[in-house]
Amino acid sequence: MSRKKILIGNWKLNHNRKSAQDFFDEVIPESKIGWPIDVAVAPVAPMLDFVGRIIAKVRIELAAQNVFYENQGAFTGEWSAAHLKELGVRYCIVGHSERRRMFFESDEDVRKKARSCLGQEIVPVVCVGESLAERELGQTNDLIRNQVLAVIRDFRAEEPGEFIIAYEPIWAIGTGKTASREEAQEVHQFIRGLIREVLGEPMGSFTRIIYGGSVTGQNIREIAAMPDIDGALVGGASLHAASFLSMVEGLHDIQ
Ligand code: PEP
Repeated sequence: MSRKKILIGNWKLNHNRKSAQDFFDEVIPESKIGWPIDVAVAPVAPMLDFVGRIIAKVRIELAAQNVFYENQGAFTGEWSAAHLKELGVRYCIVGHSERRRMFFESDEDVRKKARSCLGQEIVPVVCVGESLAERELGQTNDLIRNQVLAVIRDFRAEEPGEFIIAYEPIWAIGTGKTASREEAQEVHQFIRGLIREVLGEPMGSFTRIIYGGSVTGQNIREIAAMPDIDGALVGGASLHAASFLSMVEGLHDIQ
């Protein structure tokens, strides 16, 4: 079955209005060619509105880096999936390893965030991944199983809405080290098996599972050509127009 490849740029705490505008001034003319893949950019939350206006008429979608799971109330500093919906956000990253590690997000927090996105028809991009120590101890599959099941166990098989799983081995994020395509494929296949087990065959086949961890224009083709790898979530290489476009081109070639 053919799933549409997707590239999501996670800008993290980078770019301001000026540099974002420069980025899109270079990227937007290329996007008019009509990319056969999905492309999204996740700027810092205070720039979602600004970026949303720039990309409103082109085939680049808006993604958020985070969300809170409550809809309203006394939660200073947070925002809800409903707010993201109003801004035209299509995808929302949840459970990035930087948030799990630095902001103490638990699997349960990630589950609730993913649910609240689905409630607003925003596609949650659920990040999972093991540390180097966990990989070396042979704990990768157990850890991934726990992280994935914690989120999907209460999605209803009949109508869970679209979600994406991003496999991001922590040791490959921002380090210049990538998992080999075989290592990544093995985990992606494992994750697809879990989705099939819990949500049934159609969801298992349709759900996109993307890879993240030092992806660049140089390595995206070989990684994303693997049978269970449907694209990439990219930090560093998504910040500059030239490297961003070379990744779009890479995915385009193998779609
Ligand atoms: C990420 O933070 O999601 C990521 C994959 O970063 P990088 O591409 O810089 O490794």
